[in-house]
Amino acid sequence: MKYRILSIFVIVSVILSALGFQNVDTKKNRYHQHLQALEKPVCTEHEDDVFCTHLPLMNITTDEPVPAPYLSVMDRNGNILKNDEMVGATIQYFDSETENNHLTDTPVVDERAMIRIRGASSRKYDKHGYLIKFKKDDMVTGQKVSLSGMTPDSEWALHGPFLDKTLIRNYICYNLAGEIMDYAPNVRFCEAFLNGEYIGVYLIVEKPEFNENGRIEIEKTNPKVDTTSYIVQIDRESQDESASIETFATYSYIMANTGAERRGYYHIEYPSATLTEGQKQYIESDISRFEKALYSYDYSDKHNGYKAYIDVDSFVDYFLINEFTLNYDAMGLSTFLYRDIGDKMKLCVWDFNSAFDYYEFSVVSPETFSLQNSMWYSYLFKDREFVDRVVKRYHELRKSYFNEEYLMNYIDETIAYLGPAIDRNYEKWGYSFESTHNGVVYDYLYPYERNPRNYEEAVAQLKNCISERIIHMDSHIDRLYTLCHDSLNKSINYQKEN
Ligand SMILES: [Zn+2]
Repeated sequence: MKYRILSIFVIVSVILSALGFQNVDTKKNRYHQHLQALEKPVCTEHEDDVFCTHLPLMNITTDEPVPAPYLSVMDRNGNILKNDEMVGATIQYFDSETENNHLTDTPVVDERAMIRIRGASSRKYDKHGYLIKFKKDDMVTGQKVSLSGMTPDSEWALHGPFLDKTLIRNYICYNLAGEIMDYAPNVRFCEAFLNGEYIGVYLIVEKPEFNENGRIEIEKTNPKVDTTSYIVQIDRESQDESASIETFATYSYIMANTGAERRGYYHIEYPSATLTEGQKQYIESDISRFEKALYSYDYSDKHNGYKAYIDVDSFVDYFLINEFTLNYDAMGLSTFLYRDIGDKMKLCVWDFNSAFDYYEFSVVSPETFSLQNSMWYSYLFKDREFVDRVVKRYHELRKSYFNEEYLMNYIDETIAYLGPAIDRNYEKWGYSFESTHNGVVYDYLYPYERNPRNYEEAVAQLKNCISERIIHMDSHIDRLYTLCHDSLNKSINYQKEN
């Protein structure tokens, strides 16, 4: 098998170098399932009506029906509350490296778990996403489980692409981010059954969590000490306020003023069960220290400004991956900030459901930049040095992971890898290509012309968006320099003081 993997790498690198792909500093070997999974022989062992897939196969059997996605109650803003009640389940995972998988095979994982529907706006789609927490037999203690070679952990997200008719947006974006940044969630495609019913192609996604062996690798917390490594999520207001914090950007209304609506709430994700009040205050003031330095007169100063607190490369890459993919939930929503006790703050990507112009109610033109106006970045871009680094890194990435041929090939090869699984997915969910079905409107994208009518159209849409995005960014990236011109006042006063 080693030789086979080696030869795949050789072939891949020959193809890439022929495309003008220049290897950039890749610290790790990111696993790309469509390139590294072994090709499997055609299965002749059984009748045609037996479910048979070359992908890993997950079989979920819940103890009682999965609770509905929403409660019939509204919050104070009139939004229907999410139903996060979990139920017990047994999860089997079939993952032969060399043969196709069937529900009658011997599972490589057969564990108890708690499960619920996950996601925010995606909850309303017929095909649900799920949160899985593997448990020991007491159904309380977490049980670490490895899925298809990913780091053993108890929590997993199961993303079921429904609005994204290509099925591959998240796969591509997470893997791009994983090549570029220190850490991005690892992902694997699988097909899934829920309570005996086939539910289509899913993407298993690592949750950005503390895990010393391959998720966010930060120093383990000690509840006896206030100073701690931490992971904070910036997202919608949480129904659980015990881990919510308010930083300088919250109480100074900076956060509220950098988005159209008040969104972007900080929740401490790690430490979780053992989080103490002292640690909560430490994290609150640690982030506030960075924000005060950033929103200050000497924000760009090496010792007193933002650079003393954040890993600038991480912030540059986070900006570029989200900007390149037009993923504008970033910063207000779906953002993870983490800090190892001995290191500076870094960012981690999360959720590319709406990337490449897939917001339901708004068209995102590929001819735009947006994140430079968001919280933190609106000030980072005042610093010419930061803009320099963004522009330089963009040109570097254009020769590697943002190379157009590389991306188009990546898409084609991923689709080829999924192969018949795409057809099986759409035997189940194909009606969602129709404008309406059984009286329900499935044109989620507005205006309605944006909704693709078949798989090929969906893929063409994604490819066009990438091509147009590249054209725009290539010719306009330098425009970011308009954000950092020094005022006359500042240059005079700053020189006087220094
Ligand atoms: Zn078979």
